[in-house]
Amino acid sequence: MTPKHQVGLFWFNNDLRVADNHALEQASREVEQLICIYCLPPSANGKKGPSSPSGHRLQFLKESLIDLNSGLNTLGQNIEVYFAPPLETIAQLITQYDIGALYSSSSADYYVNTVWQLLRQRYSMIAFNQVNSSSLFDPEQLPFSLNELPDSFSKFRRKVEPIEVRSPLATLASLPPRPSNATARQWQQQFPAFENNPAPLFKGGERSAADHLQGYFARGLASTYKETRNGLDGMDYSTKFSPWLANGNLSPRIIMQALREYEQSVEKNDSTYWIYFELLWRDYFRCYAQKYGKRLFTLGGINQRKPATSFYPERYQKWCQGNTPYPIINACMKQLNTTGYISNRGRQLVASCFVHELNLDWRYGAGYLEQQLIDYDVASNWGNWQYLAGVGADPRGHRQFNLAKQTQTYDPDELFINKWAGNDCSPVLDSVDAADWPILDSTKAPKI
Ligand SMILES: Cc1cc2nc3c(=O)[nH]c(=O)nc-3n(C[C@H](O)[C@H](O)[C@H](O)COP(=O)(O)OP(=O)(O)OC[C@H]3O[C@@H](n4cnc5c(N)ncnc54)[C@H](O)[C@@H]3O)c2cc1C
Repeated sequence: MTPKHQVGLFWFNNDLRVADNHALEQASREVEQLICIYCLPPSANGKKGPSSPSGHRLQFLKESLIDLNSGLNTLGQNIEVYFAPPLETIAQLITQYDIGALYSSSSADYYVNTVWQLLRQRYSMIAFNQVNSSSLFDPEQLPFSLNELPDSFSKFRRKVEPIEVRSPLATLASLPPRPSNATARQWQQQFPAFENNPAPLFKGGERSAADHLQGYFARGLASTYKETRNGLDGMDYSTKFSPWLANGNLSPRIIMQALREYEQSVEKNDSTYWIYFELLWRDYFRCYAQKYGKRLFTLGGINQRKPATSFYPERYQKWCQGNTPYPIINACMKQLNTTGYISNRGRQLVASCFVHELNLDWRYGAGYLEQQLIDYDVASNWGNWQYLAGVGADPRGHRQFNLAKQTQTYDPDELFINKWAGNDCSPVLDSVDAADWPILDSTKAPKI
């Protein structure tokens, strides 16, 4: 048996839960004392910038951290939240507590992985353990290496579908205690201020995730998922697992366990299969982000083929505010700004409009969704944007949605558009021409 490390450090990221957390379980076996930390993303600290999280995101994150703290308390631990970059924070803690082993869940986040690599290079005497806690499949189950990841989702799906999804872990009974000289930090008071939404759609945390999961299946919604999943408004047309998955309050294997139980005890049909199918998309984009690293964020995408595009500040602003000449887009963007969430259909439409009708650089659209979405997930957001911008994993390349036809199909009576005041908008896209000269409405132009 390998001797236990004296003090271990657990770095939480998008795995804010105790249940089915493989990295935490490994740490619980391997160290005598443990310190659990979370570092708020640098974009959330200090000045507001293009990727600073919105109030919706911060509220959900804070709730998740508070709930994680309660979960850890029951196991004799607590979470320490730092408002400083992880590299400096972890380096300081390593020295201060003579850390022997560092633990974290595997991440699809390029920034997190870069910090991890830098720490690894700097502290060769420490044991580094990054453990998969957030995907359906473990890397060693996949019949290909990351470099050989299939170039389309369909090929990926065919290869992984025969693989069994492992059961979630048994509940942890306890965790090693904190070192006696580690004093608890009062992080809640220091949390950045945000506009509190008194009626949020979702509440962050492992307990509300479990309640939501249980309620979703208890109400039989899984039986009709495939028929309803393209809805635009409401809580029941799709699973709404994403906010809890993105923050790691819920593991995909816990979802799969509930799904399989539902299939056995209630019904197994195309809809229940389709929930699994969508979770495969999530796994695909996680692998994709890990494989392509920083290419996930470049204009030319994975093949470095740059689309012909420009930047029009007025168009960008109108899109963000929901003030374009396209009512369906305006409704989606106003819904996003008010709630922090839009449907999958809505996301496809706003991204397609951004790229095709507005001819904007897709990365600014992805950046805006990163800021606003409660369920922001680096791999799913940037991977889907690349797909729609024709620079990613879509074998068909360019995908332009016909906005009038989509409105006719998904909002024929304009109930969604009216609810979100999508018609209350600017009738024109540009108020100036390429030379910055005002474009006048010909019907109102003065006669010369
Ligand atoms: C432009 C764009 C940006 C997106 N950004 C994000 C994001 O930041 N975070 C995020 O979680 N999803 C993102 N998605 C994927 C998808 O829209 C959301 O996962 C979904 O709308 C979340 O709602 P739900 O949980 O009810 O989904 P459901 O339809 O109920 O699906 C169940 C689960 O499957 C996964 N899933 C479904 N569709 C996709 C997909 N296309 N790609 C990856 N996983 C999927 C999600 O984990 C989801 O929770 C994006 C899609 C587009 C087109």
